[in-house]
Amino acid sequence: MSDRAFLRCIQPGCAATYGISEARYDCATCGGLLDVAYDWDRLTVPGSLSFFAERWATRHEPLDFSGVWRFRELLHFAPQKQIVTIGEGQTLLQNVDPRRVDLALSAGNLHFQYEGMNPSGSFKDNGMAAAFTAARMLGRRRVGCASTGNTSASLALYASLAKTDDGAPMRAVVFVGAGKIAYGKLSQALDYGALTLQIDADFDACLQRIREATERLDLYLMNSVNPFRLEGQKSIMFRVLEGLDWEPPDWIVCPGGNLGNSSAFGKAFVELKELGLISRMPRLAIVNASGANTLNELVSRQGLKWNDGEWDQAIVDSHYDAMTRDGRKAKTIASAIEIGRPVNLPKALRSLDAMNGVVCEVTDDEILDEKARIGRNGYGCEPASAASLAGLRKLIADGVVSASDRVVCILTGHQLKDADATVGYHTSMFTGDASERAGAPRRSMANRPVRVADDIDAICAAIEKADAS
Ligand SMILES: *Cc1c(COP(=O)(O)O)cnc(C)c1O
Ligand SMILES: [Zn+2]
Repeated sequence: MSDRAFLRCIQPGCAATYGISEARYDCATCGGLLDVAYDWDRLTVPGSLSFFAERWATRHEPLDFSGVWRFRELLHFAPQKQIVTIGEGQTLLQNVDPRRVDLALSAGNLHFQYEGMNPSGSFKDNGMAAAFTAARMLGRRRVGCASTGNTSASLALYASLAKTDDGAPMRAVVFVGAGKIAYGKLSQALDYGALTLQIDADFDACLQRIREATERLDLYLMNSVNPFRLEGQKSIMFRVLEGLDWEPPDWIVCPGGNLGNSSAFGKAFVELKELGLISRMPRLAIVNASGANTLNELVSRQGLKWNDGEWDQAIVDSHYDAMTRDGRKAKTIASAIEIGRPVNLPKALRSLDAMNGVVCEVTDDEILDEKARIGRNGYGCEPASAASLAGLRKLIADGVVSASDRVVCILTGHQLKDADATVGYHTSMFTGDASERAGAPRRSMANRPVRVADDIDAICAAIEKADAS
């Protein structure tokens, strides 16, 4: 088993390999990121993707029920008996009428992949199913992450249910920035019983600290720098293809934070192409928040490119040095993508290269309007997820995406994760007439609650007044 899957440094000039049972997060030789790689010739891979549709008939089997493991031949790194699943990935591609969200796309061409429907309410569960499988394979008992919220919620949920091979419970430790995490997410980590360390620091610093802790303690790191996480997240793209009857769309649009998703999506399509299971690559659009725009700054403004693994590190270093010098930290209402130093940057560059991708950025106001527009149309997502629709709108306006393109936006997390953001938007003082005040954002989608006295005449009058307007 182990030699058919292995870890491999992503640097083409290094490509050092390591056994699957080594708990490594980077290359011992060059410090590069690692991929889970496969010797496909020695694995049984179906001849066509439609093979996976047959698993729907046997979904009473937990592995066939899982939206991750029903594609297990494409992430074949663990013996079946060690696979961890809690029924993640029951998410299906939704077709949305573009007119309902005011987008100039042809009818039938807009889709939402609604990952908020996962057990912990975000796409992170796809990755955790794979990371907990790896932890079990490696015999690890204590697992941890730094988190802007959803990683900790997902890790805490899996840890509360998963067991080691000898039946011992797993122990979860999560590092969160004090005051940096939406309450919906914090409430999950607490409820599921994780040891929750609130650290006076931002995400980037929390991740640095937990990496230091893994060097001192027996602690298995489950951030997206863990290559197994990304194997699980590849399945989001497999389900997208399934929803399109295995025909790749023209565009995948996703928010970019630590860039785990964009890295996983590129890897998924590169592998499918190599295996001859798809004939065409979709393009990738990664959307940053303006307050956390490292990728857009480096790629769109400074021309950073994968360049066969020889990207210009000096551009990256000088950007980070400037951030440090100016005390600049990531700041956005979309807390899930409030990340200034994305760990998967090289892998995301590789995805952009393989998928002829683009990067753009959107403001918090744009994100919030788009989030409300998604909510108005019956889906609902958290702010970071809405960056995808905001980015798509921009790319259409700029002529990058055309009306005839088939587009899939990834809605990464559930609406109820960040109720403060939603209520704050709809109750903002800066709506309607008030927005005429200089500089105030116009909350064009706000649905303000109406304050009424406890009086039946006043209540009926308020209802009739709303009807009339
Ligand atoms: C983690 C997360 C993101 C960011 O994804 P990356 O893979 O880190 O780029 C975006 N949206 C939500 C809801 C998330 O939880
Ligand atoms: Zn290396």
